[in-house]
Amino acid sequence: MTRVVIIGAGFGGIAAAAAIVRDDDIDLVVLEKADRVGGVWRDNTYPGCACDIPAPLYSYSFAMNPNWTRRFPPHREIQAYIEDCAARLGITERIRFGTEVTDATWTGAHWVITMNGGETLEADVLIPAVGQLSRPAIPSLPGAETFQGTAVHTAHWTPDVPISGKRIAVIGTGASAIQLVPAIAGDAAHVSVFQRTPPWTLPKPDRRYGRARLSAYRKWPSLMRASRAGTWLLTLVTGAAVTGNRVADALVRGISHLQRRVQVRDPELRAKVTPDEPMGCKRVLFTNAWLPALARPDVDLITEKIVAVTENGIRTADGADHPCDVLVYGTGFAATEFLVPIRVTGRDGVLLSEVWREGAHAYLGITVPGFPNLFLVYGPNTNTGNTSVIYFHETQARYIAQAVRRVALGDRPFEVRTERATDYDQEMQTRLAGSVWTGCQSWYRTATGRVVTNWPGKAQEYRRRAARLDPADFR
Ligand code: NAP
Repeated sequence: MTRVVIIGAGFGGIAAAAAIVRDDDIDLVVLEKADRVGGVWRDNTYPGCACDIPAPLYSYSFAMNPNWTRRFPPHREIQAYIEDCAARLGITERIRFGTEVTDATWTGAHWVITMNGGETLEADVLIPAVGQLSRPAIPSLPGAETFQGTAVHTAHWTPDVPISGKRIAVIGTGASAIQLVPAIAGDAAHVSVFQRTPPWTLPKPDRRYGRARLSAYRKWPSLMRASRAGTWLLTLVTGAAVTGNRVADALVRGISHLQRRVQVRDPELRAKVTPDEPMGCKRVLFTNAWLPALARPDVDLITEKIVAVTENGIRTADGADHPCDVLVYGTGFAATEFLVPIRVTGRDGVLLSEVWREGAHAYLGITVPGFPNLFLVYGPNTNTGNTSVIYFHETQARYIAQAVRRVALGDRPFEVRTERATDYDQEMQTRLAGSVWTGCQSWYRTATGRVVTNWPGKAQEYRRRAARLDPADFR
């Protein structure tokens, strides 16, 4: 039996497990630090949290769902979907919940995985699938520890965060904040939104799925495939806009401009929400409710720099104090710190954190020289800003399943050739040097300026390149 350990039971880990779980020669264990599957969809429960990619595409191609209630479903539906997939595919019973991995070491023959409490487990193949957006980033603002109210990051939301009748301050105007603010405005006494950079927004083509549509989906599953294909075509337009197609860029800019004209009457507010960064520098956000929420009399958009957090609220560079009862950090994630805090030691005692000191890199975002039988899901340079990341996860899962089969057939240890990985990384960095992400500040880059999260091309190019594992790439 080939022993395989997957770390993480989010969309990536479940995709990898689904690709190998039915293989009788494989002894599969999934280690999950929380007590439920779901990854980011388990963790992010803030009001308004929903998918910003249409569900027909933001789901597994091998587990199409006829039960979505709308095109952009709320987080609880996505959580229910992934729990259902894990159960139906026979993965849930392979998961050890409440198990956090602290250490993984290659002995020369296999991986020794150390868990919280010091227990160890051996594996022939190790598949970390811990996500890119799993570790919240909270800026170190002077005085933050003195704040007397409730402070919470969007990814750490709990049902007892007080909103009704409270003064709420939200730092950040990214994908999370633009969903949260419209959901709490009106219920809260007042919302102060602190914006550093205005995001590009587009109307969200959301709609409720009626009974007739859902029963048609159940009767003729091929209709779901058609809907998925249609959604895919739409994402090609936004994808083209952020990868340099001038016509698509002009079209998407025009729609965004029109949205601001229609939804924001006040020219001063409109000027504040008009993006000054290139389109695609950060994720383009689909929303119908964000701009109208900012235009409400009980919501303020503050663009002055935050200089401190006080006992009672936030102080900005103009000397103004903005009192609040609840301080929400919608400040995103430490996306460039791959696998932190797991200590991974490969061949010859080399630390993966050392190899990645200048920024993470991996061949196809999956495999690293010096780290035999280690395959990553959602690794370096495999994020996408305009289509479904699950498409990438499935591609990686199929590739990894091929690698696992080779290990099972006796190809062990199975390690990518250094020259292949180096050439690939050079190609990535050359292409990314000409991309929109290099020219602006975003969570896609490390402090040294290396873009380590995003894939530089079209999603279908990634699928084509990672479709078939080439044994010549490995030693
Ligand atoms: P984010 O996109 O990284 O946004 C963080 C926000 O916080 C930005 O507006 C940033 O400003 C601001 N910020 C950070 N540090 C700050 C500071 N010190 N002072 C003031 N402002 C500060 O994070 P996110 O909104 O949580 O979204 C992260 C990713 O999660 C998204 O890109 C998306 O991939 C994913 N997500 C997906 C969904 C979905 O529906 N599928 C929903 C939510 C999130 P700057 O722009 O100036 O850096």
